[in-house]
Amino acid sequence: MWYPKYQKAITLSYDDGIYQDKRLVELLNRYGLKATFNINTGLCDPSHDFIIHGHTISHLSWNDMKTIYRGHEVAVHTLTHPHLTHLSDQEVLDEINRDINNIQNIFHIEPVGMVYPYGSYDDRIVNLIKETKLRYARTVESNHSTHLQEDLLRFRPTCHQHDPLIHHIVEDFLNNTSNHPQILYIWGHSYEGDVDHMWEDIEALFKKIAFQPGIYYGTNEDVLLPFSSIQIK
Ligand SMILES: [Zn+2]
Repeated sequence: MWYPKYQKAITLSYDDGIYQDKRLVELLNRYGLKATFNINTGLCDPSHDFIIHGHTISHLSWNDMKTIYRGHEVAVHTLTHPHLTHLSDQEVLDEINRDINNIQNIFHIEPVGMVYPYGSYDDRIVNLIKETKLRYARTVESNHSTHLQEDLLRFRPTCHQHDPLIHHIVEDFLNNTSNHPQILYIWGHSYEGDVDHMWEDIEALFKKIAFQPGIYYGTNEDVLLPFSSIQIK
């Protein structure tokens, strides 16, 4: 448990398990940062490439993921990235549990978290997740907050890595001297480095948040789960 040894923690989250994650992990490692990679293990071949603004985005192979994600967390993003709210209960559970099983086989770990594809979820989906082994699930609704959250199955990130307010949010977080635990949770996609020409911005952000005294750097699991059974005031 990082608190109360540390007052603040930073964690990052990247989706889809794609080729640009390799470059991103090199940056994370250079700056001593930890992230969680949310992967779709049913899309890991060239027939599932997709195109964004003229850039072809490829998923990593199972084999490449094994080496690239070393030292970081791997979590569920479902087998094939559907809108879960459009599926039957059984289809939702299959999408999640088959991704869990593949992650177990590839990485020999027990995944504990997930990210909703397209950020799409409702109360029914949350109740289905309670039937799985997963203990946290992230939405895409930024709350610009670094407070602890009660409901880890509807977890809201602080902000996207390209949020127009990110520099204010990071400054406030770094200057915060509250005695309550604070979590800065940033998410994104590594392909945004190429597609939106953001690699320099991503590195500038990492440089700004890295190597700060008194801040704990951990994966989503490391940072969020210690509070899962604690009543938050
Ligand atoms: Zn996704």
